[in-house]
Amino acid sequence: MISVEEALEILQSNLPERKVECVPFQESLGRVIAENLKATSDIPPFYRSSMDGYAVLTADVENPPVELRIAGESRAGGGIPGILKSGEAIATMTGAPVPEGADAVQVIEQCEIIDGGRKVRILMPVKPHENIAPRGSEAKAGNVVLAAGHRVGPAEIAVMATFGYGEVKVYGKPAVAIFATGDELVEFDQMPEPDQIRNSNAYCLASQLRLMGLEADYLGIVRDDREELRRKMLAGLERDVLIITGGVSMGEYDFVRDVFQDLELEILFSKVAIKPGKPTVFARRGNKLVFGLPGNPISALITFECFVRPVLGRLCGAANPELPRMKGELLADMRQSPGRTAFLPAWVTWQDDGWKVDPLRWKSSADIIGFTGANATFIFPKNRDLLSRGEIVEIMLLPDFFVRQK
Ligand code: AMP
Ligand code: MG
Repeated sequence: MISVEEALEILQSNLPERKVECVPFQESLGRVIAENLKATSDIPPFYRSSMDGYAVLTADVENPPVELRIAGESRAGGGIPGILKSGEAIATMTGAPVPEGADAVQVIEQCEIIDGGRKVRILMPVKPHENIAPRGSEAKAGNVVLAAGHRVGPAEIAVMATFGYGEVKVYGKPAVAIFATGDELVEFDQMPEPDQIRNSNAYCLASQLRLMGLEADYLGIVRDDREELRRKMLAGLERDVLIITGGVSMGEYDFVRDVFQDLELEILFSKVAIKPGKPTVFARRGNKLVFGLPGNPISALITFECFVRPVLGRLCGAANPELPRMKGELLADMRQSPGRTAFLPAWVTWQDDGWKVDPLRWKSSADIIGFTGANATFIFPKNRDLLSRGEIVEIMLLPDFFVRQK
């Protein structure tokens, strides 16, 4: 049995080449840029006023009040204004070019219009360059403004629009397939017989993928039958990544591992010291990756977040795709038998002066109903058997942590 850290290293060193594609810039939200995007012009493109006021020469207004002749105006989109001479002021709006000759803009609040609008009285001095954003002060033409590897959010979309990038190169999305295994499974729209249950894992995993911006081909339920598994696995291997749930434990009818061997997949690990999720299997065939996740619903959910997410995230170009971690105070004593790193469900909130970790009263790794009360997991180190109330523990946030409410 390998540790969680060793499993992550194995995953890391078995990543296939990432794909790159070109998409319209508006569709690049959430993707990772695969090229360096450079400024196609200086921004601002001219000396830009950052306030409404009067462009002046600072030397003219050193000893206020000072009266200056209004020599014109500069408004955003109203053309490039004329040159300002000593003794003059030019009304200048936010976002408008500052006239040549002026070296500052005095804000409108420090100006009084007099003489029927012919003059302005400046009430306070102003420092050189005040309220002016110089040409190229935000970006110089040719500078890299978004480096390859940068994830696209709303601000990045704005930058692409600013520089006229209609299309951008981003890392591609891996094609993912999912199927569920188990003789006891029926679909959500079927009535289970007394010995059956509905397949929930496939839908849970598909929605976990969706939170990563990925879609999966769902290949259905496969019986605990070697031949059927073999056929479905071959279909799944046409995608880049195949995720299977169930059938990886040591039971009489857990055939997934056997079929991996039948199909000559290279099994890279098949048991991890994690709780829940010990029987997780990871295999590859060429550049195709296959995950065999345990069938217990919470085991499947947690092992997806711990092992599948980092792989898919890196294939999508992310440098650090793991779920974010932080620390918080445990609100109850917790015990476990040592030997495996446990990821236990909890409700984590900010209270008073820090994050508080309220462990869920759940029944087992099968209890997906109980798990709906969690917004995070906390980590129970594998060499410990007791975590005491008040102890600071490590938290792994669930992907929708910031939008979940109670
Ligand atoms: P297995 O990993 O196949 O031994 O399954 C472990 C437990 O998870 C059993 O109680 C299964 O009935 C249950 N299980 C397996 N697959 C699913 C699924 N797709 N949806 C819900 N429960 C499942
Ligand atoms: Mg099974």
